Amino acid sequence: MSYDPENIFAKILRGEIPSEKLYEDDHTYVFMDIMPRADGHCLVIPKTPARNILDATPAQMAAVMETTQKMSHAVMAAFGAGGVTIQQFNEPAGGQEVYHLHFHVLPRHEGVSLRPPGKLEDREVLAANAQKIRDALAA
Ligand code: AMP
Repeated sequence: MSYDPENIFAKILRGEIPSEKLYEDDHTYVFMDIMPRADGHCLVIPKTPARNILDATPAQMAAVMETTQKMSHAVMAAFGAGGVTIQQFNEPAGGQEVYHLHFHVLPRHEGVSLRPPGKLEDREVLAANAQKIRDALAA
């Protein structure tokens, strides 16, 4: 399986389609998931091409994990969450739908289930939740 540079996250990285940006550094980029399964659900991706963990380099994995840890603290602080769930899917059989490596970061509250997938969030709600996370990162 090869990397398709026309995947939607590659287009986000090139600025060809918009995203609600939360954070970036030299190696990673973080933005809101447009169909959040919890308030604050965001995605961490490497800036360089990788289809998923099966072809990612150790350096890409290290960079993405470092940012995933940073975002875990930020989303928990932003939403007063008691925990965080990290999800990551590989290939169709593994549940992957977008073929650029990404880690889902989901703030969690005791007793609250994840929402079902596939429901687009209002743009204003997404923007307000994104601002909470950016504020937490800046604090
Ligand atoms: P998966 O590959 O199974 O991890 O799922 C891809 C994820 O990307 C889903 O949670 C979608 O809601 C999310 N997604 C798809 N398109 C966009 C987009 N344009 N901006 C932000 N998130 C997206």
